[in-house]
Formats: sequence, C-alpha cells, structure tokens
Amino acid sequence: MSSAPLLVVGRVVLPDHILERGAVLVDDGRITAVDRRSSLEQQLQQRQPQVGDGARPTVVDAGDGYILPGFVDIHVHGGLGADFMDGTAAAYETALRAHLRHGTTSLTPTTTVARHEQIVEVLKRTRQFMASGECGVGSGEQKASAHSPLPTHHSPLLPRVLGAHFYGPYFRYEARGAHPGQAIRPPVEREYAEYLDYADALATATIAPELPGAEEFAAACRRRGVRLNSGHSWCSFEQMRAAVGWGVRHVDHLYCAMSDKSRMRQFQSYPMQGGLLEATLYFDELTTEVIADGKHLSPDLLQLALKIKGPDRLALVTDCNRALDMPEGEYSIGPLDGGERLLHRDGVGLLPDGSALASSVNGMDHMLRVMLAGTGRPLWEIVRMATLTPARIIGHDHDLGSLEPGKRADVVVLDEKLHVKRVFVGGAEADLSLPR
Ligand SMILES: [Zn+2]
Repeated sequence: MSSAPLLVVGRVVLPDHILERGAVLVDDGRITAVDRRSSLEQQLQQRQPQVGDGARPTVVDAGDGYILPGFVDIHVHGGLGADFMDGTAAAYETALRAHLRHGTTSLTPTTTVARHEQIVEVLKRTRQFMASGECGVGSGEQKASAHSPLPTHHSPLLPRVLGAHFYGPYFRYEARGAHPGQAIRPPVEREYAEYLDYADALATATIAPELPGAEEFAAACRRRGVRLNSGHSWCSFEQMRAAVGWGVRHVDHLYCAMSDKSRMRQFQSYPMQGGLLEATLYFDELTTEVIADGKHLSPDLLQLALKIKGPDRLALVTDCNRALDMPEGEYSIGPLDGGERLLHRDGVGLLPDGSALASSVNGMDHMLRVMLAGTGRPLWEIVRMATLTPARIIGHDHDLGSLEPGKRADVVVLDEKLHVKRVFVGGAEADLSLPR
C-alpha cells in the first residue's frame, strides 16, 4: 500500500495523559509515530526534503477537539434498526455502520437468547465478517486506494469484527432481564459442541455459574481458547468464587441482572451472604463493564465501580439495541423472529410495560460523556475504559486500543464537546452520513 501518510494534529489522548499540540502519524494503516506536532513535522521534512506532493502527508486538524483511539465495544446488539441476531449480511452492515458513526472501530457482535439454529447462523455470519474485515473493511472491498491522498471509503468501511460475544441462552431464568424466557436453557454438550466449532469466531462466552453443566461448559470453552464471562445470574459469592477457579474473568454489565446481598436473602435469612455483585467487586481476577448511558446507573454507582475496579478493570460498553438513532417506539431485542419486545422511550430501552430497563439506545461517545460527567475523572482515564481496557479484556491490546506506534490506525476525532467529527479505520476515513 503506497498511499500518502496521514498526519492527525491536535490534542492527542494517550493512555495516561493528553498530549497538547500533538500529532499522530499514520502510514499504511498503522500508527508510525506519536509526538509533538512540531517535532513530527521536522522529522518528516528531514526524512524527505524534496519529495513530490504525493508523498507529503495529508493533514487532518482536530482544532480544539481531541484525537482518540477508536472505541472498542465488547457488548453491543445493534443499531439503526438492525440487530446482529437478524443474522443477515445487511443487518451486520447496518449495525456496524450505526456504531462507526459513534466512534466505535472494533466490536464483538453480541448474541441474545434465541433458538439453536439462529445462534449458529450468527456465529457463521460473525466468522464471515471477521474474514472480510481484516483491514476494517466490510464484505468484499479492498482497503485504502493507492491513488487517493486521503483514502475515503463510502459504504464498505466498517468497524472491525473481533468475534462474537456469545451471550445467552445460558442465563438463569429469573435473571433473564429483557431476554425471552422460553429459549433459556442450561448448557448441554450436544448443543454447545456445535457453537464451539466456531471457537475462532467467539471472542467470549457468558455463563450463569449456578446452572447445571456450567463447569463443564467453562472447561469446554477453555479447551477451545474461548474467554469466559458470567452474567444474568443469581449465583452466590461462593459460586462465583468457584467460577473464577474455572477461568471466568469478566462479568457482564455490573449491577444489572445479577444477585446481590438483598437478593441472596430470599434464599437464606442469616448469615447474610454476597452475590455476583459483591464477588465482582471483590475478585481482582475479574474485569467488568458498565452501561454509562445516564439511565441504567446513577453517578454514585459509576463512581463506586470505578473506585473499586479501577480504569484497567472496568470497561464502558453500550449494550445498545437496534433502536440506536431510530425514532421512539416499539422494537425488539434479539431476532425479529422470537425476540422480546421493547420500547425505545426516554432515551433508553424499556420492557413494554415500562417496568424495567432493557438495554441502551446510545453509542459509545455518549457513554464517554456520561462517565466523564458522572465521575469527574480525567478524560484520558475515561477514554481508556472505552478503548485500551476493553481491547485488553478480549486480548487485542497488542494491536488496538491506544494511539501507539505499531498499532492499527483506528483514530477518532472529537470536537471540544466530545462529539464525533471524523473516524478512521486502518487509516482510511469513514463516511459518517446516515445511509439512505
Ligand atoms: Zn446485552
């Protein structure tokens, strides 16, 4: 690939500070240098004093805004009307495009409780998008054009698909939240052996540890190199201690659809015991995530999670459903055929009777702004929770998640109010307009 290098200048958000008057140099899809703008420009001049215009870097100026690594979302269901569980290539492209517009450049399509063949279909589709998107480009298209000074891709440039987050059907029935009840089931080898045939396309798998067969499922996942989460569970603290022993290392949406001391009291009046919530906060082996949409969790709960887990063990996720950037009204979570109804109202997803929350309707840029306002922590620390921390949780931090030389050039430019202005995947600029 011989396109001209790209120089993105402005306030560069690094994992541990903000580099004012900084610059990120991109060449051939990778970040090649991060430094003060003046020294990078000097280096470039010295390197090639009399080259033609074609090799001179194209400058993207963030002005008073910020330059960030692209967001990494490890729990996301859909957007712009599409759910990954719809299973079609068109639905994948729509949902991926929806989140690209909000600064997400890598994600794990997250399954929901559904019939066996629907889940298999989604794992198949995930594998296909992983293969076609090696350069962050969607099905069938090449990456940067060699002739354009600033490669701009229209519809095919999509976020990277890092593998599926296998999420459901192995939930506890009472902790299913917004998921349909009739398809919830305990793990049975005959069934999950078929899912594990797609181990290469599985980023992580969720299990409620108290289900019969959970330990065997965990062992089978480990043998195939699939990471393990716990969630949608009313397990006790001690059951979670055992699950950590099986290799579970991450817990889905802290505080949501999980047991705590009060819940456990309905099974044992004394001594009081902890549940999944307390265990998640306690075990250093466990990372977790929050839905910081301003609707699921109050600022005090965000502060508590961050204080105890710290920014390297707490990720921001969207848990966003298909209603992202869609009008208020009725939608479904999960497949159109057999999914559960939900309302998009008041800036969140709700059960049809309005009695409980049912996933979010926001992109990662919104989560960043809410977490920042709710915790008062420095911007670079909050950004890390949407980039490097989730990348590490699913094992991609060697390649993604921060603006460091050698990593893929997934770069997001935000304005000073932290709204997305421009998005680059592998150094190519994405088209952020709404699809027709
Ligand atoms: Zn979810």
